[in-house]
Amino acid sequence: MRVRSETTVSPHSIRDNFLRVQERIAAAAQKAGRRAEEITLIAVSKTHPAEAIRMAYAAGLRHFGENRVQEWEGKRAAVGDLPAAWHLVGHLQSNKAARAAGLFHAVDSVDDLALAQRLDRARSELNAREKLRILLEVRLAGLMCIPPFLEASEEVRPHFRRLRELRDHLATQLGRPLPVVSMGMSHDFEIAIEEGATEVRLGTAIFGERAKK
Ligand SMILES: *Cc1c(COP(=O)(O)O)cnc(C)c1O
Repeated sequence: MRVRSETTVSPHSIRDNFLRVQERIAAAAQKAGRRAEEITLIAVSKTHPAEAIRMAYAAGLRHFGENRVQEWEGKRAAVGDLPAAWHLVGHLQSNKAARAAGLFHAVDSVDDLALAQRLDRARSELNAREKLRILLEVRLAGLMCIPPFLEASEEVRPHFRRLRELRDHLATQLGRPLPVVSMGMSHDFEIAIEEGATEVRLGTAIFGERAKK
């Protein structure tokens, strides 16, 4: 995929966007009786150029999400030196699992067991110091979810609530904590926080609108 260069990002707008989003996260957390530090913001930089990622890093962002292995391979040379955490948040084809295992710290969208096993095998073959972090993605209710896009963002609340409840349930069944609930995008992250999100994935709210395909 080509990364478009006619982007409108500037260090200024990214910094302003980030500050505004931080305030909104803090307000949503407070409303739910939570602390803002419990929530990790993943800046979803897909379609935006490497320089935008560098600007966002300079503004203070430390977690970045890409949704295509190939696009990230193209940008990585320009920003891989930054000590940030690189997340894959999009669907991963199994034939790209080995590449992804070496390119990301986290794959937040694992949607089948064979894929998890492939990632695990590839990561051990790399002798990486840290294990690859993965999150399981379950349709409508899982540990990471992308609910249907609904104009009235309040309507996504039940999806977020079910995901959180499923996490609680699974954690009890497994007898160990599952600390991460990744849910909430630019148009609904405050609701996700109220319902228990520990990570929100924001593209538009940080980088502005993406160029239409
Ligand atoms: C693009 C994307 C996002 C960010 O979407 P925005 O609406 O721009 O905040 C979040 N999560 C995933 C999985 C995405 O692909």
